[in-house]
Amino acid sequence: AHVQGRVEWNGVGVLRDGHRVKVLGNVGSPADAVAAVAAGAEGVGLFRTEFCFLSAGTEPSVEEQREAYAAVLAPFEGKPVVVRTLDAGADKPLAFLSPDPEPNPALGVRGLRVAFDRPDVLTRQLDAIALAAADTGADVSVMAPMVATAAEAAWFVERARAAGIRRAGVMVEVPAAALAAREILAVVDFVSLGTNDLAQYVFAADRQVGAVAALNDPWQPALLRLVELVGDAGTELGKPVGVCGEAAADPLLACVLTGLGVTSLSMNHTALAGVGAKLATTSFDLCQLAARGAVAAADPASAKVAARAPH
Ligand code: PEP
Ligand code: MG
Repeated sequence: AHVQGRVEWNGVGVLRDGHRVKVLGNVGSPADAVAAVAAGAEGVGLFRTEFCFLSAGTEPSVEEQREAYAAVLAPFEGKPVVVRTLDAGADKPLAFLSPDPEPNPALGVRGLRVAFDRPDVLTRQLDAIALAAADTGADVSVMAPMVATAAEAAWFVERARAAGIRRAGVMVEVPAAALAAREILAVVDFVSLGTNDLAQYVFAADRQVGAVAALNDPWQPALLRLVELVGDAGTELGKPVGVCGEAAADPLLACVLTGLGVTSLSMNHTALAGVGAKLATTSFDLCQLAARGAVAAADPASAKVAARAPH
């Protein structure tokens, strides 16, 4: 059993009625990977590859990238790992990919947008990921950050397939992508909601500015309504919908997200046992009740009260 504080969890994300929700780790380094496995992660829902190269002055070679990725993938032989392609720009500039100075970096050339100008960089990264997957036996998927349209998603999937990677998905962290969830899910194998950026963009509230932090609350009903759109589309199309933003790390909110149709939750290793243990106490019916109440609430505090009612 995995113990965190007084919470015990058996390391499988399953509700008391047998409904499965994968409980996964967010990682950015080999140390994170080891910590996630020790805490019971069933795999990785978000590997932030840009964290490997924050201090790199020039683009790492395919061989250097292969080694860096393999070091993170190694503990996950036979387990699912979602590797996110470089999310450079805004708060995470990479020296070798920095765009010209922009007036609004969060709204500028970041995430997958960088790859439209530099598809060669993306191709080399995908090749390195495929090699590292073969080296380690991890069950690797790739995922693109900051996707806004189905056309962008299709562009990415085509390149992932060309690199021989079996499963490709995109993050839903731009409100337009949530509104186009059906069209996007039609061209990808899965999506994962990045609730940190999704909140920032839907509330027009910079996630790095403390003065607007109350708007970036993951319990905001307006944010949950976007999650509901994506969850419904995933259920309809029979494709996985994950959450890999901070929202997934809150045990009660994890129940709400499950009720909204989310099929995997990815978080920092410190949150795994708490979320896994909470899920084991609830059922899909109760999660749906909690979700209906939270989505219909007027504000974050009432959303929490509504989610707690059946729990
Ligand atoms: C997010 O935006 O919610 C997310 C998981 O990605 P990052 O925090 O790396 O931007
Ligand atoms: Mg993000």
